[in-house]
Amino acid sequence: MLIYADIYAPWPGNPIASDDCRRPAQPYRVRPKFMSAAPLNLYDLTRPELQALFARWEFSPVHVARLWRYLYWECADSIGAMSALPAKVRRRLEAETTLGVLPTALATDSSDGFTRKYLLRLPDAERIETVLMRFTGRVTACISSQVGCAMGCVFCATGQMGYTRHLTTGEIVAQAMHVQRVLRSGAVAGLAEAGSAPATRLRNIVLMGMGEPLHNFDAVMKAIDIFTDGNGFAIGAERITLSTVGVVPGILRLAREQRKPFHLAVSLHAATQVGRAALVPAARKWPLDELMAACRTYSETTGRRIFYEWTLIDGQNDSPDDARAVGRLLAGLPAQVNLIPLNPTEGYAGTPTRSEAARRFQDVLIHEFGIPSTVRQRRGIDIAAGCGQLAVATTA
Ligand code: SAH
Ligand code: SF4
Repeated sequence: MLIYADIYAPWPGNPIASDDCRRPAQPYRVRPKFMSAAPLNLYDLTRPELQALFARWEFSPVHVARLWRYLYWECADSIGAMSALPAKVRRRLEAETTLGVLPTALATDSSDGFTRKYLLRLPDAERIETVLMRFTGRVTACISSQVGCAMGCVFCATGQMGYTRHLTTGEIVAQAMHVQRVLRSGAVAGLAEAGSAPATRLRNIVLMGMGEPLHNFDAVMKAIDIFTDGNGFAIGAERITLSTVGVVPGILRLAREQRKPFHLAVSLHAATQVGRAALVPAARKWPLDELMAACRTYSETTGRRIFYEWTLIDGQNDSPDDARAVGRLLAGLPAQVNLIPLNPTEGYAGTPTRSEAARRFQDVLIHEFGIPSTVRQRRGIDIAAGCGQLAVATTA
């Protein structure tokens, strides 16, 4: 129950706080943090916002185009390096803005050679995880949306650490720029290539790192607008996946607002309300029937299928009958189910499913229900690449 109370703790700006919110007697999971006024972070601004700023400063729009190229094409890491900008523009930028490049506190490579995990330091000394995953011919960045998470999923290292604060748009953008800079510098040459040419450009982004992206809706959506800006980073929206624990108002807002066509993934993990609430306390706020209704609305209004994530836990939710319950729950919905064998965490006693059980689960979905299903590779397990695990390991 304490976790339940934590989720709805009415910290300032909490978009899910509601009339039924109850402040926990001892809010040890919630460590709200208040940021002091900081200079404008250039990574916080969309191109139209930058245009408005330059118009206010009476600088030519030509300089916006140059600056944007420096930021998102050249991956500049300082304003001083932007030599094609006139000195007066650089001076003003240096005086009134900052370029929110995030320093690396720690970088670790997995023994499989395909995954590198970064612990990045934020201006207030908090640390977040960003993971670079190299698949054949493509690189994916797994980025965080919050410091910690308020949702308290029992098996998740980030959930176990509790919520500290939302990331700003600039801090979300900076993670992708970090990976892009690493790729351009060739610093990942050591990572296995799987027979393909080394990738020099980040092509895929998954919002599956620390935090719940729909709890930090506005900052995340603005970051997606920046990622997909055709004149800058120019990542196709269809190469971005946002994973949510099932924040119903956020899913309905996505359905209403008809945003860029990024992929939506919903973390399900159980096909009954009781089973789900035991793993995902947020299900008590947004029950399974409301979540499925929101998913249906989303698919109907956007015409897009949803990826449903299912963390497979040995003996708990990995039987063929569990798979049949998923099949029945998703009947008639455009869906794909991604199965993720549990990454063990210190705070949860469950163990990963066995590979035969994962295959059986997948077979039931595909052959009995015609639902496409994949089993996620467990990448970087030796570097604690599960959500939030590195941050926990290095603060222990
Ligand atoms: N908050 C969002 C996105 C971040 S978590 C969400 O929950 O969807 C990304 C995915 O990793 C989710 O599907 C989550 O359930 C899963 N996950 C978290 N901890 C895990 C663990 N220890 N083992 C396997 N999957 C885990
Ligand atoms: Fe938060 Fe997602 Fe972890 Fe749940 S799984 S605690 S929603 S980051």
